[in-house]
Amino acid sequence: MAEFDLIQQFFTRPAPSSVLGVGDDAALLQVNAGMELVVSSDMLVSGTHFFADADPYLLGHKVLAVNLSDLAAMGATPRWATLALSLPNVDEAWLAQFSAGFFALAQQYQLDLVGGDTTRGPLNVCVTIMGEVPVQQALRRDGAKIDDDIWVSGSLGDAALALMHLQGQVQLSEDDFAACAKALHQPPPRVALGLALRGIANSAIDVSDGLVADLGHILQRSEVGAEIEVDALPVSALLRSLNPPQPSLIREGVQVTLGSSATPPLIKPLAIRLGSQKTTAKSLVMTRGGWEGFQQCVLAGGDDYELCFTSPVAHHAEIGRIAEQLNVPLRRIGKVVAGQGCIIHDVSGEPIQLKNGGYEHF
Ligand code: ADP
Ligand code: MG
Repeated sequence: MAEFDLIQQFFTRPAPSSVLGVGDDAALLQVNAGMELVVSSDMLVSGTHFFADADPYLLGHKVLAVNLSDLAAMGATPRWATLALSLPNVDEAWLAQFSAGFFALAQQYQLDLVGGDTTRGPLNVCVTIMGEVPVQQALRRDGAKIDDDIWVSGSLGDAALALMHLQGQVQLSEDDFAACAKALHQPPPRVALGLALRGIANSAIDVSDGLVADLGHILQRSEVGAEIEVDALPVSALLRSLNPPQPSLIREGVQVTLGSSATPPLIKPLAIRLGSQKTTAKSLVMTRGGWEGFQQCVLAGGDDYELCFTSPVAHHAEIGRIAEQLNVPLRRIGKVVAGQGCIIHDVSGEPIQLKNGGYEHF
């Protein structure tokens, strides 16, 4: 199949919101009066961001979802995208699935694919997304103020847990994996939330590399610090169940009773914190908050694509209304303080040291 036919068959759809879409040397786009153009790119690389045999429909969905998440974090309305594809070969079944996943999500947001590039090479998909925001109203990282509340949408850590399962670091039952896999493969872009937060949030970011790392970007750009409480973090029932409040016995290679999960997960004996002492013994007593993987997932996991934002205390009630209207859980997790960096308190009020601050590529 020739390159032109491939583009024609899989990536050419009507683009009603553009002056000129796919097919010319470049697209022509008209931004509405009084709006700023918002542009962002995110690339997914085989072997780094997804497994080479990943479901192409889900990959098409995800590469757009992660880009929509960036626009959401800016408070922007998505309008257009371009798609750069590097493919090892032309696999029509794969392309049909990939483009179906991409366009299904694009349609939900009335986003038009207006161009791209297609080449032979290692599997790699890159979207550039464009949207608009009224002049000066974008949600930026540098606007956090001391005493702002810090909020986070949805729940954290499920995507990281699903990834840990795929990497063989934990073993979840089929049902438990299904419960967290959706967060990894089909994160819901928080576009409507981003729009609702214009004029409410002082700063915002999407959580793609882990809460602590991404909140850290807000703090750095805003020249402030933060205090957050682990207990306040929104976590799914599944993740909670893996980090039981009651002491439990864990043995290597043996399923143990953990929380309320129907089939309990088998957790390989990672280094597990026992009080302040670290041990990798075969038989361990876990205390509350004792599964180190829990903190890794929730605080440093990555791939959450939730919004973290800061907002003056005066907007508390309004934020409650937004959560209700949009049916998106919003949780207050801490406060912006003077200083630098993020202090995380555990249940006992003790500061937590993170072994791994977030996902870093280099
Ligand atoms: P050029 O040789 O000028 O780079 P191409 O032959 O690469 O042009 O692309 C032809 C048209 O198809 C252009 O409008 C380009 O934006 C579009 N296009 C190429 N690849 C893709 C793709 N994967 N998705 C959407 N549009 C694409
Ligand atoms: Mg080209």
